[in-house]
Amino acid sequence: MAAPTLKNCPVCHKLFLDKGYGVCNNCMQEQSETKQKILQYVQEHPGCTVAEIASALNAPMKLIKYLREHGDLVDLGAAIKYPCKKCGALIDRGTYCRACTSEFAEANQKIQQRVQSAERLSDLSKELKKDNSPKKKVKLRMHFINMNDDT
Ligand SMILES: [Zn+2]
Ligand SMILES: [Zn+2]
Repeated sequence: MAAPTLKNCPVCHKLFLDKGYGVCNNCMQEQSETKQKILQYVQEHPGCTVAEIASALNAPMKLIKYLREHGDLVDLGAAIKYPCKKCGALIDRGTYCRACTSEFAEANQKIQQRVQSAERLSDLSKELKKDNSPKKKVKLRMHFINMNDDT
């Protein structure tokens, strides 16, 4: 376990001595209570949004988001919808929606294809350079032969 460090609570922003929990004692207490409430709410309202939970339970959005981002809600089996970081579509896992994820994958693939074709190009130019050198040698040899013929 890390040594206790003084830092700001990510939920309430109060200064506290972190013993490895990441939030202050007050928020930890509140978190475990809110977690139970949230889990119950989610079971009763499957696919609800963070905003819905916040208004229904009068729970701070920050706390719900903090729980979600740390996977606590996922651990509890809750499927809470929250906006995709790129387009804002509601998702229940990961950072981006399926569309954005596949968009990223496609973009990634294109980059890789470009890298591969660039590698192919450099290979080709290397081969061309290799091709060039024997030709020069052949020309030189022919020149040499011609000179011999002259004498
Ligand atoms: Zn706190
Ligand atoms: Zn998206």
